[in-house]
Amino acid sequence: MGDAAGEIPAPVSTARLASAADKVRALLRAALDIALPRLCAVCREPVEGEGLCASCWSKLSFIPRPYCERLGIPFVYDPGPGILSMEAIADPPAYNRARAAVRFDEISRVLVHALKYGDRLDLAPMMGRWISRAGREVLAEADALVPVPLHWRRLWTRRFNQSAMLAAAVSAASGVPMVT
Ligand SMILES: [Zn+2]
Repeated sequence: MGDAAGEIPAPVSTARLASAADKVRALLRAALDIALPRLCAVCREPVEGEGLCASCWSKLSFIPRPYCERLGIPFVYDPGPGILSMEAIADPPAYNRARAAVRFDEISRVLVHALKYGDRLDLAPMMGRWISRAGREVLAEADALVPVPLHWRRLWTRRFNQSAMLAAAVSAASGVPMVT
C-alpha cells in the first residue's frame, strides 16, 4: 500500500483557484499592455494617452452653437437665440431637448462602432466627457441619468450595455447620478 496522501489528491479550494486565475489574467493583461501599444481607434496608428491620434482628433466635427435648441442639429448661420430648426417645427419630437457632441461622419462612426461592438470600451470615458460638455445645460437641470436598456438577450451576447457605459462616464464627468 502506498502513501495515501500520494494517491488521493489534496482538496484545493475553488476560491484559491479562482484567485490564482485572476492573478494570471492580470499578469497577462499587464504583459499585453506592454507588448501591444494602444492604437488610434480610427486609423490604428499607435497613440499616446486616450484612444485618438492628433490627426483623427483634428478631423472630429464637434457641434458648437448655433444649433437648433430642440434637436441640437447645427445651423449654418446664426438665426438668433432660441430659434428652432424647420425639422423641429414640422415634426416636433417627443423630447424637449437633444444634444450631440459631434456630427455623425466617417470619424465618429468608427468611434461609435468601436465602442458599441466592444473592442474599444476604453473610449467610453473620453466620449462621456464630450457628451457631458455638449449637454452641460441639460445636465445642469437633470436629476438623474437613465441609460437606454439593452434587451437581455443582446446583453447576454454582447456582455455589456454601451449606453450604460457612456452614462457612467457622463455621470463621472458631470456629477449627475446614474439610475438603472
Ligand atoms: Zn488616428
